[in-house]
Amino acid sequence: MILYRLRCTKGHEFDSWFKDSKTYERQEKKSLIGCAVCGSSKVARAVMAPRIGKKGKEQAPPAAVEAPAAAAPSPDQQQQMATLAKHMPKELREALLKVRAEVEKNCEHVGPAFAEEARKIHYGESDKRGIYGETSDEEAEALAEEGIEFGRLPWIPRGN
Ligand SMILES: [Zn+2]
Repeated sequence: MILYRLRCTKGHEFDSWFKDSKTYERQEKKSLIGCAVCGSSKVARAVMAPRIGKKGKEQAPPAAVEAPAAAAPSPDQQQQMATLAKHMPKELREALLKVRAEVEKNCEHVGPAFAEEARKIHYGESDKRGIYGETSDEEAEALAEEGIEFGRLPWIPRGN
């Protein structure tokens, strides 16, 4: 399984799992992938989720450095993620946990105030810095529409 960050022509970003890159390419060519927000089939790959597989070469910088902020999913999504994580290949799980650790190390946790803080940073009312926190789908969509850059991470639980 491979996780791609996709973006539609209206700028909505969402993550989607594919069996492998070929599956993605085939589906993309046939316009089988719909935007998670507006349903548009005009989607393309945005920034790639953590690279897996290649050992040795570290794939820095983490997503949180490229994007100024990262939104962790809602409790519902976390539940889904926990289920997903159980069936995830070990390598992928580890890669995602690594990203999570990097975000936690490098970014300030703002909790549910994420959307508000991301806005303040965007409009220069707060210091520019990496933040992470929780946000709802509605808020995330509103942020995207305002042109505020952020990433959504598959926030998989630690441990088993
Ligand atoms: Zn869209």
